[in-house]
Amino acid sequence: MTEQFPMSNCLERTSSHPKDVLLRSDRLPHIWCPGCGIGIVLGAYVSALQSSSYPIEKQICISGIGCTGRISGYLTLDTYHTTHGRAIPFATGLATVRPDLEVTVIGGDGDLSTIGGNHLIHAARRNVDINVIMVNNFNFGMTGGQHGSTTPQGAKTRTSPYGNAEMPFNVPLLVAAAGAQFVARWTTMHVKQLQEAISRMMEIKGFAFLEVLSPCTPTFGKYNGYPDALDMMKHFRDKAVIDNNADLSKIAVSARPEDPIVVGNFVNRKRPSYQELLQGLRANSSMGGLGQK
Ligand code: SF4
Repeated sequence: MTEQFPMSNCLERTSSHPKDVLLRSDRLPHIWCPGCGIGIVLGAYVSALQSSSYPIEKQICISGIGCTGRISGYLTLDTYHTTHGRAIPFATGLATVRPDLEVTVIGGDGDLSTIGGNHLIHAARRNVDINVIMVNNFNFGMTGGQHGSTTPQGAKTRTSPYGNAEMPFNVPLLVAAAGAQFVARWTTMHVKQLQEAISRMMEIKGFAFLEVLSPCTPTFGKYNGYPDALDMMKHFRDKAVIDNNADLSKIAVSARPEDPIVVGNFVNRKRPSYQELLQGLRANSSMGGLGQK
């Protein structure tokens, strides 16, 4: 945990907004482009923190590299800004040795499902008790707009100027198939649902995943029919269809503007978490582990 602020300091600060107490206002203005959706996700996360039953000292935020990865630097919690694609293994280690902490990973699609895709599916398979919030802007925004594992087929980016030839990951389907306990998708237009989903994730003992579809005008929107920051938000508003019981195999995000965007809290199930299984194995072992007498 790199930046640690005594909580007493945070609570004594004069705040002009209820969320200020959890934000490092000395770091503002933030780096995000006008109209970027990442600030909305940060706001929803802070609201969920403030309504959580966990004390703030037990809340940890871990991020990787990219525009979304900068979230950890704006929070007064214990946070860690890891290397590209490696936020989930860091969170897995921390949450395993300190199961009393509430660990949340926040990252972009490039960070979590492209560079770090392997870690994502294995954390879901193990049912590690962490929350993963993936802000999906359909490209690598910070590095100039390369296509990645979530870029819709046919969408244009700087590295797919004639349209993306690759089939993208449908990440909710991927993590649900791998065993995630809670899987949801919302957009940055669904502020209330975002906050409620994050609050639910904090109460779940197991791997909880939220995809947030988010506008990125300079490196994605302007090449795909959304030249202004508001255009993609209007697209989310007009095309979002809430279906909590959706067939996840049919909810891939399309590059065609006429296609619906299916959102909802899709999966909510219960199985023992990785931490619970480890504790059970230790408690039930009368012989001791390998190498012990
Ligand atoms: Fe947001 Fe895209 Fe700008 Fe990054 S490049 S800050 S994701 S709008």
